Amino acid sequence: MRVSRYFLPVLKESPSDAQIVSHKLMLRAGLVRQTAAGIYAWLPIGYRVLKKIEQIVREEQDRAGAIEMLMPTIQAADLWRESGRYDAYGPEMLRIRDRHDREMLYGPTNEEMLTAIVRDELKSYRELPRTLYHIQWKFRDEVRPRFGVMRGREFLMKDAYSFDLDEEGARQSYYTQLLAYLRTFQRMGIQAVPMKAASGPIGGDLSHEFIVLAPTGESEVFYDAAFEEFDWQQSDLQYGDAAGLKALFDRVGSTYSATDETHDEARWATISDDRKRTGRGIEVGHIFYFGDKYSAAMGLKVSGTDGKPVTPMMGSYGVGVSRLVGAIIEASHDDAGIIWPESVAPWKVGLVTMRQDDEPSVAAAEGLYTDLRNAGIETAYDDRDERGGAKLATMDLIGLPWQVIVGPRGIAAGTVELKRRSSGEKQELSVESALARMSE
Ligand code: ATP
Ligand code: MG
Repeated sequence: MRVSRYFLPVLKESPSDAQIVSHKLMLRAGLVRQTAAGIYAWLPIGYRVLKKIEQIVREEQDRAGAIEMLMPTIQAADLWRESGRYDAYGPEMLRIRDRHDREMLYGPTNEEMLTAIVRDELKSYRELPRTLYHIQWKFRDEVRPRFGVMRGREFLMKDAYSFDLDEEGARQSYYTQLLAYLRTFQRMGIQAVPMKAASGPIGGDLSHEFIVLAPTGESEVFYDAAFEEFDWQQSDLQYGDAAGLKALFDRVGSTYSATDETHDEARWATISDDRKRTGRGIEVGHIFYFGDKYSAAMGLKVSGTDGKPVTPMMGSYGVGVSRLVGAIIEASHDDAGIIWPESVAPWKVGLVTMRQDDEPSVAAAEGLYTDLRNAGIETAYDDRDERGGAKLATMDLIGLPWQVIVGPRGIAAGTVELKRRSSGEKQELSVESALARMSE
C-alpha cells in the first residue's frame, strides 16, 4: 500500500468526544468514524484489522470442528414469539416493520433462527453432535452506547451454537469451545482470562466470560495469580481428547476468577494475599450452556438411540469481534499510539522515506518496497512528500510492528534504520539485511 494513494485520515488532536484511549486512538489513527450513535463505518485500515481478527476467530473455530454458515441480520418477529423472547427482550431489540406491515427485527443474537433451521433438517441422533457458527453483524439498542466500538449498537459477533444428544455431550462441546477461545485470544496477543459468569436461567457451572484486563474495563475482576502463568496455547491437547478437555475445564474452574457479578468473598478469602489480583476488564467472549431452553420451547427433536424422540441440549458461544479491536488497543498502546500484535496488525512493515526529494533514498525505498511485496510481506509505504518527522509520528500512531526508515545519510552509507514499534529499539542495517530480517 502506498500512503500517497491510500485513504488514511489521521487526526493530530485527540478527539474530545472519546473518553477512553482505544476510542481516541481508533479515531486518531483513522480506523473508524461514527455515522450515528453507536454505529461506525470501518475505514480501510480499521477494516483490515477487523478482518484479521475475524480470520483468527474463524480458523480456531474451524480447528475445533465448528462449521461456518451465514444467517441474515434481519429476522421475523414470529420466530422470537416461538421462544417467548419477543416480548421478553425489551427495548434493546430494534423492531422494524416491512411494507406489508409484518413485524421484523434486526437480530441481537441467533438462538431462535438456528434452532428453527436445524429443527427442519436434523432427524437422528446420528447427526449429533454439531456446532454451527457464523460471523455476522448484530444490533442491540444499548441504553448507553459508549467507548466507540467497545459498546456499539451495531457490532460484529462470532456466535456458535452446539447441539448434543445429552448434557454429557453438551459439556464436551462446551470444553471444546473453551479451548478454542484460549487459543483464539492467545493468537491475538492478548490474555483473556476465563471467569465464572452468572449462569442465567438453568444454573450450573457452564458459563464463562473471557476478560481482557484493562483499567478502562466495565467489569471489576478478581483472579488468582496462577492465571499469569497459565498455558494459554495448550499445544499438547487434542480436540478429541475428552479426558484432557475435562482436565482443562477443571483446572480453569478450580483457579479462582470472577467478575463483580459472581465474586465469592468466602472463596476469595482462602487465596493467599500475594496471589490475589484485582482490576478491571473487558468482556471479549462468553460461552454458555443453556440445555433445552430453546430446543424444548421450539420443538426441536431428533430420534434417539432407542427410536424415541429426544430434545437436543444446546450451548452458545459468542466472541465480540469488533469489540476486540478496541480491547486489543486498550491492552497494547503507548503515548505515541497503537502497538499492534503482529497477528492482527494491518500491515507488518511501515516503510518510510525521510526525504521524498532525495533521489537515492526514493530509489532505495522503491526497490525495497518491491522486494518486500515480492517476499509476501505486508507493507505500508509512506511515499508522501511530507516532513519525515511527521511521517514517523503517523507510523507510531498506526502502530505497525516494524518501521524501515530510509534517509539520505543512511543511504549514502548503504544502510536503513529498522525500528521495532513495541520496544522502540532501533538498528542500522544494510538494505539487504533489513529485507532478510523482515522475511524471517
Ligand atoms: P455485555 O455484558 O458487555 O453487554 P453481553 O453479555 O450482553 O455483553 P453476549 O450476549 O454474551 O454479550 O455477546 C457475546 C459477545 O459480544 C460479548 O462477549 C461481547 O464481546 C460482544 N458484545 C456484546 N454486546 C456488545 C456491544 N454492544 N458492542 C460490542 N460488542 C458487544
Ligand atoms: Mg455476556
